[in-house]
Amino acid sequence: MDDVPVLHHLALNESPYPPLPSVRKAMRRAVAQAHRYPQFYPDDLVERIAAWCRVPPDHVVVGSGSVGVALQLLQAVIERGDTMAYAWRTFDAYPLLAAMVGAQPVAVPLSTDGRQDLDALLSALDRRTRVVVLCNPHNPTGSLVTAAPLSAFLRRVPPHVTVLLDEAYVEFARDPDLPNTSALLDAHSNLLVLRTFSKAYGLAALRVGYGLGAPDLVARVRRQQLPFGINAVAAAAVRASLRAGGELGRRVDTVVAERERLRHRLAGAGWHVRPSQANSLWLAAPDPVDEGAAALTRGGVRARHYPGEGIRLTIGSPQANDAVLAALSDVWRHAAHTDADRPRRGDHAAASRHGLIRSP
Ligand code: PMP
Repeated sequence: MDDVPVLHHLALNESPYPPLPSVRKAMRRAVAQAHRYPQFYPDDLVERIAAWCRVPPDHVVVGSGSVGVALQLLQAVIERGDTMAYAWRTFDAYPLLAAMVGAQPVAVPLSTDGRQDLDALLSALDRRTRVVVLCNPHNPTGSLVTAAPLSAFLRRVPPHVTVLLDEAYVEFARDPDLPNTSALLDAHSNLLVLRTFSKAYGLAALRVGYGLGAPDLVARVRRQQLPFGINAVAAAAVRASLRAGGELGRRVDTVVAERERLRHRLAGAGWHVRPSQANSLWLAAPDPVDEGAAALTRGGVRARHYPGEGIRLTIGSPQANDAVLAALSDVWRHAAHTDADRPRRGDHAAASRHGLIRSP
């Protein structure tokens, strides 16, 4: 199967759209000045992002992707041996970042319906905990912690713990109970919200993300900023993207509409797909995810496959999503033929017997 060409790249939750013409033009102009250094610290970009988010500039820190901002936060607050809690599974970088700063990771299992278990996360916090990560919407499941439970969670987190609220996918969320981030930021000085230009804004290669937080916390995170760390081409692309917000917003709407189309069509083909608020869908065992992953590979689709556990499918162009549907539509019918007593979702004991879910 190795020789099937990959036609559709749906493994990294990227945007299916290349940069807008206005953004490319801004990048070309910046390339022509590439013999000059960028700003020592990206103050201009901070000001523009702050204006766009309607907060004062001292509430904003910019970094090398949102993952770079997350590392800066950890470097600012973690001392060797401190712990850092997060729900698992989540974005792969969190355990790596923990190792980079010498934090001991505390991985709290997701609930069986793919949600971050807020009570279990709270129980995992102790004297040694310095950071707790919440990913909202969640990667890889697309689940959302809505406004009321998130407020209650934040009220219960002790003040010596910084909450890293990773909103990399927030632009794709359409739930009417989406948390109001700015109200949360006003209420909690131990909160850093992460955002990125990699996903909805389609600039993943350029590595720009930002954090929003109270000035004291932001000042600590900024102290870890690499001088000349944001390149000028990326900064120009971000500035141009902020000017093209309407056009980019329509692209996001298209991705959201495709997400819902794909979800309904996959449900019609037998898959138990939960609602997602991100630019991805999560297919989980005991659905036949390993067979599904093989079918996707045969169909020229590269998705993110966690063997025995799930498939995270990035929402692509309509054409790519059609390729997903073509690959996955028959998997259940075929699976029903070959394994009449395949477990259904929720039948986890049976699923374990079939080796379809990993033991915890
Ligand atoms: N947070 C989450 C939840 C992600 O899934 C990703 C990328 N997959 C990131 C952060 C990192 O994004 P960036 O490109 O901004 O570093």
